Amino acid sequence: MKTLKIAIQKSGRLNDKSVELLKNCGLSFENYKSSLITQVSNFPLEILFLRDDDIPEYVQDGIADIGIVGENGIAETDVDVSYLQRLGFGKCKLKLAVPNDSEIQTVADLHGKSIATSYPVILEKFLTKQGVKSEIKMISGSVEISPGLGLADAIFDIVSTGGTLRSNGLKPFADVMSSEAVLIGRKGIETDALVAELLQRIQSVMRAKETKYVVLNVEKVNLNKILDLLPGVKSPSVLPLAEEGWVAVHTVIPEIDFWSHINELKAAGAQGIVVMPIEKIIV
Ligand code: ATP
Ligand code: MG
Repeated sequence: MKTLKIAIQKSGRLNDKSVELLKNCGLSFENYKSSLITQVSNFPLEILFLRDDDIPEYVQDGIADIGIVGENGIAETDVDVSYLQRLGFGKCKLKLAVPNDSEIQTVADLHGKSIATSYPVILEKFLTKQGVKSEIKMISGSVEISPGLGLADAIFDIVSTGGTLRSNGLKPFADVMSSEAVLIGRKGIETDALVAELLQRIQSVMRAKETKYVVLNVEKVNLNKILDLLPGVKSPSVLPLAEEGWVAVHTVIPEIDFWSHINELKAAGAQGIVVMPIEKIIV
């Protein structure tokens, strides 16, 4: 029987969440930190643990069939692969930043200046589009210290909270790209039955994450008001309670809708509201 190969990051920002996603899909495997490859015991899948930089090319070249990598990683390697699914984690922004006292304030001011980065391809494309010519200095790590060392006038780097920039006396002034983890595949792999099955599991896990199972009690006289407030639900279950005149409403709703309606639900007479996580939603 054919075995599918998925490439995920061996260690780093995307490793934990990639492993968690695969485990939530019901896949059983040992997360051998020391080995490059592990076999899933209950699905024909092999997991390759790689540097994130290598994943796009491994997938393009068919060494792995599919892979999990940041969108920025794909943009940086300029590969030709299929996007199968956005995964909702590993969210970050790539920004331009300068020292707090720099005279550079706009992208145009970067003309003729030097910029340190680990993402030269994305930066080059962006600058060309803006008609700006700068000297790009490729540095593989700790980019944020380069202005302080006199190595570059500006930096282009991944920023999540901005704390690293601040502690190095830098301020961001332009967003270039937003990124999140995505599942990619070799061109044409979309039609593979195993990929389709795995994709269905991933989507059901993701749907479940955003959705809650809500149970609440209400007096029958107020039931219609409550049903009007529960958005996007065709038909919740309504069950009688032991106490005469009361019912329990069971429903599945997006968590965001729940929070935006909680006060109205209470005002309409909802009591004993219980919100529960859902493991998977199959549609
Ligand atoms: P590797 O050793 O695999 O080459 P790396 O050091 O290049 O790892 P990481 O820092 O682990 O890379 O980041 C991997 C990816 O995670 C990035 O390309 C980006 O898509 C995402 N990422 C990076 N930093 C953050 C962050 N602070 N918050 C969320 N996601 C991030
Ligand atoms: Mg890397």
